[in-house]
Amino acid sequence: MARYIFITGGVVSSLGKGLMAASLAALLQARGFRVRIRKFDPYLNVDPGTMSPYQHGEVYVTDDGAETDLDLGHYERFTGVSAHQGDNITSGRVYRDIIAKERRGDYLGATVQVIPHVTDAIKDFAQSDTDDLDFVLCEIGGTVGDIEGLPFIEALRQLRNELGRDDTCFVHVTLVPYIAAAGELKTKPTQHSVREMTGLGIQPDILLCRCEKPLPDSERAKIALFCNVRKEAVIPALDASSIYAVPLQYHREGLDDEVLRHFGMSAPAPDLSRWDDILDRYEHPEGEVTIGVVGKYVGLPDAYKSLNEALVHGGMANRVKVNIRWIDAELFEKDDDEIAARLEPMHGILVPGGFGERGSEGKIASVRFAKERKVPFLGICLGMQMACIEGARAAGHSEASSTEFGPTDEPVVGIITEWMSKEGLQQRSAEGDLGGTMRLGAYDARLSGNSYVSSIYGGATTISERHRHRYEVNSAYKGALEKDGLVFSGMSPDGLLPEIVERPDHPWFIGVQFHPELKSKPFDPHPLFAGFIAAALQQARLV
Ligand code: GLN
Repeated sequence: MARYIFITGGVVSSLGKGLMAASLAALLQARGFRVRIRKFDPYLNVDPGTMSPYQHGEVYVTDDGAETDLDLGHYERFTGVSAHQGDNITSGRVYRDIIAKERRGDYLGATVQVIPHVTDAIKDFAQSDTDDLDFVLCEIGGTVGDIEGLPFIEALRQLRNELGRDDTCFVHVTLVPYIAAAGELKTKPTQHSVREMTGLGIQPDILLCRCEKPLPDSERAKIALFCNVRKEAVIPALDASSIYAVPLQYHREGLDDEVLRHFGMSAPAPDLSRWDDILDRYEHPEGEVTIGVVGKYVGLPDAYKSLNEALVHGGMANRVKVNIRWIDAELFEKDDDEIAARLEPMHGILVPGGFGERGSEGKIASVRFAKERKVPFLGICLGMQMACIEGARAAGHSEASSTEFGPTDEPVVGIITEWMSKEGLQQRSAEGDLGGTMRLGAYDARLSGNSYVSSIYGGATTISERHRHRYEVNSAYKGALEKDGLVFSGMSPDGLLPEIVERPDHPWFIGVQFHPELKSKPFDPHPLFAGFIAAALQQARLV
């Protein structure tokens, strides 16, 4: 039977619970255990799919087409375990399902209540599909004491009571702030936060104390005394040099040992060579490249979390540091001179995924710059669509556009209302609500045998990548695009939907309709990012 590790946060938000969960899972995995990480989000949205990236960072899409919290990206990148729909639940989803059941009469006239109906649904979620696992790690979003989070905390309290202390472990992540005027680290907020937890009926087993200065032994002992845990279970979590250093650091501080001790388990020392290698590549690069990312949400790096990570992984694959310059596409619409001024120093140009018309002309101008100046270019999703609009305009279709931006006589990019998936014919209405009209999740693409992209994928003829978009490149423009040198080198298996475009007469110019960044891992960089950074390195040597 799986054992459960519940991860809660106290004192403040943004303590890096997601990274902590991912790192602990990686450490357990390095000892040979099978792990899965789940995220409980207390907000009332059914999923983050319709939330603005400004509010919530990127939406992470799984193979099975779930739009999930970006923490699931951390989980997948650190463990290699593919996340799925069943790994992220929100209050909104729980209430939606309960209300649907209530309307159907499934509760046979009973009064529907938070306890037991909501808490039971949360417990079922935590325990579903766990047969083949040693550990299930459940991260609870938000901070203990939040009103929205109470039913989740209550459900976990019940679960501990039902499963017993030997099969459940509560790890509470807190902050030990440094007060410069006093020159001291303060333990009081941690004490209060643990008191809040005990008031809700949960005694944490392990405290992970985030701090910006080393935690003195005396303070560790004090936290142990006041919070009712063993001193060894107070794990200092000093700010790390990078996220890739976190698993190794937590191991040195004894986190995984303490977790196993709690469960009364012994296991061989973890094999951490994978993490040593990642950190070495990250901290000792042998060169650097600068990549310009021309997008919309450039003020908030979390909006492009996976993209940022995948570029770093591409750097690791080539042992170079990747400097990312986030450039607001709208800058290029106001002032033509900006384009050369901003893009000339770049060794690679990337136009990422996005929604809406704002900034699109600036993105198209960036594509043109990359094409004409022969700078390595990667277009992702909207980025590929912009590359096709640019190509069509260059081939004489001066009005080429996307129907996403309004009615157009030249719909090089348009909405498709029917397509085939593994499950059969999929249909959607052009007028459907925003939450449910996208091509989401993993789809296969067939690669042309002699294409550049097929060599990047190691000679593969079929690949599977994750999608999240409503519009598609219109294959009726194939001939026009070829006139400008842009060819379709990957298509959906039914041959209808362009999945990849490339320019054979360019050193490295690729557009993909999917999101390769979602599948890149530090120990397994995505070939498109490894290839893009290798081409940028080549470019850096030229200029
Ligand atoms: N807005 C475009 C579409 O819906 C692209 C989406 C994306 O880049 N993820 O097709």
